[in-house]
Amino acid sequence: MESARKQLKTIFGYSTFRPQQEEIIRTTLEKEDTIVLMPTGGGKSICYQIPALVFDGTTLVISPLISLMKDQVEGLRSNGVEAAFFNSSQPESERAEVIQQAKSGTYKLLYMAPETVFPALDSWLSMVPVSMVAIDEAHCVSMWGHDFRPEYTQLHLLRNYWKDIPFSALTATADKATRKEIENKLGLKNPHVFLSSFDRPNISLEVRGNIPKKKKQEEILDFLEEHEGQSGIIYCLSRKETEDINNFLLQNGIPSSHYHAGLSNTERSRIQEDFIHDRTPVITATIAFGMGIDKSNVRWVIHNNLPKNLEGYYQEIGRAGRDGLASKAVLYYTMRDVKLLADFARDSSQKEVLTEKLNRMLHYAESQTCRRKTLLSYFSENLEENCGNCDVCLNPPSFIDGKVIAQKALSGIKRTHEQIGLHLLIQLLRGAKTADIYTNGYQNLKTYGAGRDLSNEEWLFYLIQLLNQGAIEIAYDENFHLKTTPFGDKILFEGQDFLLAKFSGSSKKRTETKTP
Ligand code: ADP
Ligand code: ZN
Repeated sequence: MESARKQLKTIFGYSTFRPQQEEIIRTTLEKEDTIVLMPTGGGKSICYQIPALVFDGTTLVISPLISLMKDQVEGLRSNGVEAAFFNSSQPESERAEVIQQAKSGTYKLLYMAPETVFPALDSWLSMVPVSMVAIDEAHCVSMWGHDFRPEYTQLHLLRNYWKDIPFSALTATADKATRKEIENKLGLKNPHVFLSSFDRPNISLEVRGNIPKKKKQEEILDFLEEHEGQSGIIYCLSRKETEDINNFLLQNGIPSSHYHAGLSNTERSRIQEDFIHDRTPVITATIAFGMGIDKSNVRWVIHNNLPKNLEGYYQEIGRAGRDGLASKAVLYYTMRDVKLLADFARDSSQKEVLTEKLNRMLHYAESQTCRRKTLLSYFSENLEENCGNCDVCLNPPSFIDGKVIAQKALSGIKRTHEQIGLHLLIQLLRGAKTADIYTNGYQNLKTYGAGRDLSNEEWLFYLIQLLNQGAIEIAYDENFHLKTTPFGDKILFEGQDFLLAKFSGSSKKRTETKTP
């Protein structure tokens, strides 16, 4: 570890490790496998870069983002580290040179795109003196996830070549199903899992639902005038919308640019550079913008539309406030967004998962619970206290004692051995006489009909709160069945107090795209 600390200072110029970094590096130096779950900007890179410098030989880094690879390698080289990348965008001659150097063990770090790994394994890669394998963006292995890469599922083959060196899988996506898949599919050996907190307390959270377009534009304009000169991003669902909003802002004297994948490479890098160097404070963009942008003073992120899922939303708002100073995230959404996204999900080959994830996004937007609690519970993190820095905390609904309601629901889940989905649970609690109830024999359970006093709508309203408060969770990889969490068990078995926002009739139209 002495040597690791020295590298931190001399190569990277930092005097202390961030929480977890030291433990992760220590574990890797002991040649154990690791899974590192850390939010974007948390400092994952040095968790493998420092071991790479300490070990003899070469650390192989698998990364799907060619632009990021290039930045990392340039950064390392400018600090005097021998590093190179190998991907399909390079000219043949350059690749030949990299192969040559790699075989002779020149590099401390060699970055490779996943699709180049397998052809190389049987020819030159197995001749490289590899001392560690780091798999960045490891969630790409997940079929459920938002950036599935088929080549990632082949990466376990690397194990056959290098059996006794440490493997490290790193990602900023931390839901439970993804974690399990990473462990299973990458061939890791009893990995140590490091889960950093995903909380970003300096980002305030606000949601504005169903605001008419005109009014929304005025609100955004007011917001920008209030935050004049500060950097921020407005995320939009479509390319056209990025252009429309940009034009609207320019007409109103706001210095802004729009950004989407339809622009040329040169235009895109120019816009990015202007943003990074504070020449253009405001960018209207699709989600194509932001990956790999290292800018610490983004002060706000506005979502003009509902995002597809909470993973994406979390990543996008996470581009604000990396310097730790107070920053804002404002989300606008309308039922039109919901419908558009629901149609999109329905047409996909992963319809169930995408629909379910969209529902969770919507639950967040409509949450009656501290937004931060809601967001973190999605990542299986339980925030003890309400945050005090979100719109729900600042303007709370009226609460009722929800202990008994929660206990009924939790007990229903337990008695079905956690083999029940949201809608069937409501039928069970309400004592419904449906085919699904009878085929499962649920009419014989003690909880059958225990919640007759509440309507369907009320149960949905409360169960979503149980989900948002982290008392239950949905297993995406097990037919969307509900599971109780340790916090839920406390309510059920230890009489932990539990509050629920009061149901106020159907004044607020609830939305739920149909779940499977
Ligand atoms: P991630 O890959 O998790 O998104 P990075 O590895 O790119 O994050 O790190 C984010 C930023 O934090 C970088 O600018 C990096 O130099 C900085 N950083 C990482 N570790 C430390 C540390 N121990 N002290 C100070 N800054 C750090
Ligand atoms: Zn809050």
